Amino acid sequence: MHELSLAQNIMEIVEAERAEHGFERVHEIRLKVGALSGIDPQALELAFEAVREDTCAAEATIEIDAEPRVVTCRRCGATMDADPGPVACGSCGSTDLDLQGSTGLDIVSLEVD
Ligand SMILES: [Zn+2]
Repeated sequence: MHELSLAQNIMEIVEAERAEHGFERVHEIRLKVGALSGIDPQALELAFEAVREDTCAAEATIEIDAEPRVVTCRRCGATMDADPGPVACGSCGSTDLDLQGSTGLDIVSLEVD
């Protein structure tokens, strides 16, 4: 499962931060999921709950901000909601559409003791 290895990555980063900064506990982890990452925030949250047991983040809350999926028309610049994917621009009818967004997963902040 893709999200499980991502959750393990997050835990590794958190542990590395802890080694560097010497905090005891993590209270909150805020993540940002890119619109093009293909990551399911809910699955990631569940996976994280599985990997954080017996770690410094065992009681942490996890906040996931999903980047909005927005399609931009290359012809007129109109933007549309990407879910479900529009076939043509609602303003000019062009089919030259561009789905933009980040493909990554970032830790935005850690709240620690
Ligand atoms: Zn357009």
